[in-house]
Parts: sequence; structure tokens; C-alpha cells
Amino acid sequence: MTFILGLTGGIGSGKSAASTWFETQGITVVDADIVAREVVEKGQPALQQIHAAFGDGVLLENGELNRQVLREHIFKDPNARQTLEYITHPAIRQSIIQQLQAATSRYVILVSPLLFETNQHELTDHSLLIDATEELQIQRASQRDGQSIEQIHKIIQAQMPRQQKQHLANDIVLNDGHLEHLYSHLKVLHERYLKR
Ligand code: ADP
Repeated sequence: MTFILGLTGGIGSGKSAASTWFETQGITVVDADIVAREVVEKGQPALQQIHAAFGDGVLLENGELNRQVLREHIFKDPNARQTLEYITHPAIRQSIIQQLQAATSRYVILVSPLLFETNQHELTDHSLLIDATEELQIQRASQRDGQSIEQIHKIIQAQMPRQQKQHLANDIVLNDGHLEHLYSHLKVLHERYLKR
């Protein structure tokens, strides 16, 4: 059985920077955000179920998901989010499992901003939190995405509190220095994970 590492962290913590580094070491990374988009692509069963639940309005003319309309449904109707998650979560989980099983690298990583929130950590053997202060998160995410501080603050508020993630994670890397500093911490952990 291949060792599965769950990699998480709040927005702007440096998850992507960390997962890119692991990829350069030859480790396969399954990205939960990418899987979440794949399962609602045209022709996927989950998109057909969303169509059945929310009507023709949630499809664009080319048959793809109209994210704007879907967001409006969720905004207007508190039950809509639950309906959507009831459709998408099992599909996401199934696809993640398949992709993790298909990996042939020495170990495999599942990167997910909501690893603990969506119980995806249950699919992993061990977890690594990329941790950063809220100040750094806001600074990095606003520089990367050009989003306002208020928008990023809202996203941080919607995610699990940092302290709770620190409590749940098996390993923590505080990403508060240069990228080289982050990579040197990751290298030590990587050597350890290779032995698992
Ligand atoms: P996440 O995937 O957790 O949202 P990213 O890895 O995309 O975060 O990092 C957010 C931004 O901050 C990116 O532009 C990234 O290059 C940059 N960044 C991450 N860590 C550092 C660091 N230690 N020093 C400087 N920039 C960093």
C-alpha cells in the first residue's frame, strides 16, 4: 500500500508552493480543487444530477455548468448548498480515491484546502499543515489573486480556524520565511515520508 499524505493549509498559506516542490521530487499530487472541477465537467454524471436538481438555468448553451447561476441558487436557498454537496462530494471522493490508487510514485499526496473540513483526511495516512499567520495569508493571497483584503478575510473566516488545524495535523511547517526556507523544511519531511 502506498503511503498517502494529506497536504492542507488555509488560503495563501503556501500549499501550492509546497505541492509543486513535492512534484519536483517525483511525487504524484492529487489536487482536490482540480477534482472538484473535473466532476462537474460536461458529460459527467454529477453535472447531470445538478441539472436535474436545479433545472435548465444551471447549464450554459454549450452544456457546461453555469457557475454564476448555481452560486445564485446557493445564495438564495440555504438548502441548495446541501443538495449540491450531496451530489458532488461522493463524486469527488470517488475520483480522488481512483487517482490516489493509480499513482505510482514512492508515496502520493492529496492536497486540499478543506482536508479536515470535508473529512478527506480519512483518505490519507498522515497529514501535513502548511501554516502561516493571517497577516501573511492575506498579503500573499492578495498579491497572487488581486482580491481585496475583505474578500480574503471572508474566505479565511469560512475555513477551519488555524489553531484547530494545528491540533489535527500530524506535521506542521510554518511558512513564514523565504521559499528556500519552506523547501528545506519540506526536504526533511520528504526524506521521512520516503521511509514510510
Ligand atoms: P495556497 O495554495 O495555500 O493558497 P500558494 O502556495 O499559492 O498558497 O501561495 C500564495 C502566494 O504566496 C503564491 O504567489 C506563492 O508563490 C507565494 N508564497 C508562498 N510561500 C511563500 C514564501 N515563503 N515566500 C514568498 N512567497 C510565498
